[in-house]
Amino acid sequence: MKSKYAVRNLALCTKDCLCLYVCPTGASDTEDSIIDVGKCIGCGACAMSCPSKAISMVPINYPPQQKKEDKLVNLQLKLGENKALEEAITNTKIKNVKTDEEYRLFKALNMSLRLTNEDLMRESSYMLPQSNKTHELLELLLTKKLPKDILEVVKELLEILPNNDKGY
Ligand code: SF4
Ligand code: SF4
Repeated sequence: MKSKYAVRNLALCTKDCLCLYVCPTGASDTEDSIIDVGKCIGCGACAMSCPSKAISMVPINYPPQQKKEDKLVNLQLKLGENKALEEAITNTKIKNVKTDEEYRLFKALNMSLRLTNEDLMRESSYMLPQSNKTHELLELLLTKKLPKDILEVVKELLEILPNNDKGY
């Protein structure tokens, strides 16, 4: 059974097609430039041949996450909540700016707050798909009054995502 699969970063790809020639299964030769995970056998030939380093081999199962203290996670979540509120404020400001300078200032602030929050969520393990925290979050979402199609996606994610932190 394969332990890895190939993923192409389209932003780095120069479309010289070397990966297409070396791929033994044709997984790399797709209409939409996205490597076909179903056909990929994880041999890594494409990643080794790519001169632009546009292909990465991604593990199917990630190792368990480092244990994080609840106290630290709770602090990160509180800080994340504040950053989300500040981001909402900058969204309102952006809609009401009068000058180009104001627009650029609030846009930069908005982006900076979003990136900081993403880092906080990643550090708290909520953005790592195979972590226990992500599973807890998905299970919590199932208890919320969300649109039916969103709930279907949440259920599917819970079914297909392994939980590599079991026991924490
Ligand atoms: S070898 Fe790399 S740069 Fe060339 S087409 Fe494949 S992914 Fe793109
Ligand atoms: S890892 Fe191997 S099978 Fe998968 S896309 Fe690359 S060359 Fe093809």
